[in-house]
Amino acid sequence: MKPASFDYVRAESSEHAVQMLAQAGGDGKIIAGGQSLMPMMNFRLVKPSVLVDINLIPGLDRIEQRGDRLALGALVRHRITAADALIASRIPVLHHAMKHVAHLTVRNRGTFCGSVCHADPAAEMPMMTLLLNGLIHVISERGQRVVAAQDFFVSSLVTSLEPDEMVTEIEVDTLPPGTGWAFEEFARRHGDYALAAVAVTMARRDDVASETRIALMGVGEMPMRMPELEAMIDGRNLSDTLVDEVVEALRGQITPNSDINGSSDYRRHLAGALTRRALSDAWSRADTGAA
Ligand SMILES: Cc1cc2nc3c(=O)[nH]c(=O)nc-3n(C[C@H](O)[C@H](O)[C@H](O)COP(=O)(O)OP(=O)(O)OC[C@H]3O[C@@H](n4cnc5c(N)ncnc54)[C@H](O)[C@@H]3O)c2cc1C
Repeated sequence: MKPASFDYVRAESSEHAVQMLAQAGGDGKIIAGGQSLMPMMNFRLVKPSVLVDINLIPGLDRIEQRGDRLALGALVRHRITAADALIASRIPVLHHAMKHVAHLTVRNRGTFCGSVCHADPAAEMPMMTLLLNGLIHVISERGQRVVAAQDFFVSSLVTSLEPDEMVTEIEVDTLPPGTGWAFEEFARRHGDYALAAVAVTMARRDDVASETRIALMGVGEMPMRMPELEAMIDGRNLSDTLVDEVVEALRGQITPNSDINGSSDYRRHLAGALTRRALSDAWSRADTGAA
């Protein structure tokens, strides 16, 4: 498979990149790692007239701490996200999730921000951005804006990003020390896109849960946060009965697609089983606050 012909521009700065996108009149595409874009172009699912390469823009490969948040620049590769010591210590749930992403060659090139822009409903990074209250920093020739993760994902492979916009970085929450966390995923082979995955974080004081967050992927058109389930848990002891109630409610709230990898019913069942495991692991990992 070969892509349709296109022009290629190597951007020298973010400003230069968005200038090139604006000139392309809605028909240009940023290329970061190229791990999703090139297959799409080879299958002629996308046919940009111009590719704007951001790989040589200085400074976009940084991970920066900003108070209780971390900012990942547009060129932070999956391999770096997975190995970064700050992420491992401050966001262990993300560190763990990254172990499930693709294979070495893809991880060497693919970027966190590129994955979020690609918005595959079975990808780990969009889901983690949602779990960690991500803020997506966007520029264009029209100015800058910051989009909350819950307003960014529109449907499968569709975001609220305009064609002349570029993501410069994504900020995510770090987790307060002692936060319980868990990431559970099922894929047919390690590194394949998952059939479903669940991530949970929660605080635990006097055997009562609080600040619970639950995110899922692979069970809908886009990654999902589950605020109603989070509210069911906060303020309560995570008993077996409560877990049963949450799993039942979850299965009632999702309508996964059927495909060659599994039926809708199977994915619904799987999501419940993974959630049960993730809730229990997060609860066990959480620091109870006992002296
Ligand atoms: C064999 C294989 C297995 C994979 N397995 C997994 C997996 O298990 N889990 C997983 O999550 N992913 C998986 N992926 C996808 C991989 O993570 C990609 O790296 C990722 O989806 C896209 O990142 P990228 O930097 O390569 O983006 P690109 O391919 O360069 O771009 C993807 C899209 O995002 C846009 N874009 C990229 N960066 C920006 C930016 N800064 N601003 C605006 N738009 C931007 C591009 O224009 C394009 O539309 C797999 C890919 C392959 C080829």
